[in-house]
Amino acid sequence: MRRAEFERLCRNWPFEKGDALTGAVLPLVRGRLAGQRGGKLPVIWIETCDSGDNNISFLNTAAPYADQVFSGMIDLLYSNTFMAAQGRDALWLLQDAHERRKQRYTLVVEGAIPLGGRGRFAVIAWTPAGPLTAYDAVRWLGSAAEYVVALGTCAAFGGPSAARPNPTGCAAVSEVIDGTVINVSGCPVNPDWFVGTLAHLLLYGMPELDERGRPVMFYGSTVHRHCQRRSYFDQKVFAQRLGDRECLFSLGCAGPKTYADCPYRLWVDHVSWPVKANTPCIGCTNPDFPDGSTPFFTPLPEKARLPQKGETAENRKPPRVLGDAARGRASPEPGS
Ligand code: SF4
Repeated sequence: MRRAEFERLCRNWPFEKGDALTGAVLPLVRGRLAGQRGGKLPVIWIETCDSGDNNISFLNTAAPYADQVFSGMIDLLYSNTFMAAQGRDALWLLQDAHERRKQRYTLVVEGAIPLGGRGRFAVIAWTPAGPLTAYDAVRWLGSAAEYVVALGTCAAFGGPSAARPNPTGCAAVSEVIDGTVINVSGCPVNPDWFVGTLAHLLLYGMPELDERGRPVMFYGSTVHRHCQRRSYFDQKVFAQRLGDRECLFSLGCAGPKTYADCPYRLWVDHVSWPVKANTPCIGCTNPDFPDGSTPFFTPLPEKARLPQKGETAENRKPPRVLGDAARGRASPEPGS
């Protein structure tokens, strides 16, 4: 399958037969396993500061199903969320994966990276040398990764973890490592966006990214552009209350500034999305989410003028405080 054909399939996923991508990708991967060009995509998956919503949303993937992703697409070398191993065994697996697959694995980071408190708001493991913080782990693993994927808006842009007043000093993955980060944002991520990105990395390498590092095949146009209520907006016919069928701009819809394909991709195996369920888009894929989206039910032009909850003149910008333990440690080795 040619790359352009695959990208068209990803864009049109909801309109194809339910298993179109499964039918296309898994045989390709099997072909690779049998051939000369390597096997599944090796993945190290670190969960840091988020609500766990992204891995739950990922488990809703239906074409391919999660077990098909694990068995037929990716080689999951380490995941502090999904693996059974604990303690020293888990740390050994992480070190072994890093050693054996250097420059060949994809690092998936789910969650923001706390920089305050010497990074100790998120500790991945305890080593003889002390705590391996999320900051340490992402710097260390990111420096040897072939690709880095920031999964969800916390990892991609800081998200709710970095919302004002951001007491833990949470930052996006791209703020703590060098090199390109593929931002698959969303709170949570749509499983198609994540699984499609992994499939693209496996089969064709780096996808085309927008200026915020998001794959264009999923984030190429605004929610507003494809919204089923767009004709109401164009005629300036707005909802008065939740449940009305008109445009929800009057009730705080962030669709005009939000890049994502929710109106036609839909959620929960391509069934529904917020506007279809009579509630405004809250702009969860945006770099300024959630501060730029709240209060959720206030119209966009007014949101921008209102002071945010917890905001003072001093903390108008979230703090980016690099802890003493983290500063200057470029690639810490656990146990060293
Ligand atoms: S409901 Fe939101 S996304 Fe849809 S047309 Fe109105 S403002 Fe745009």
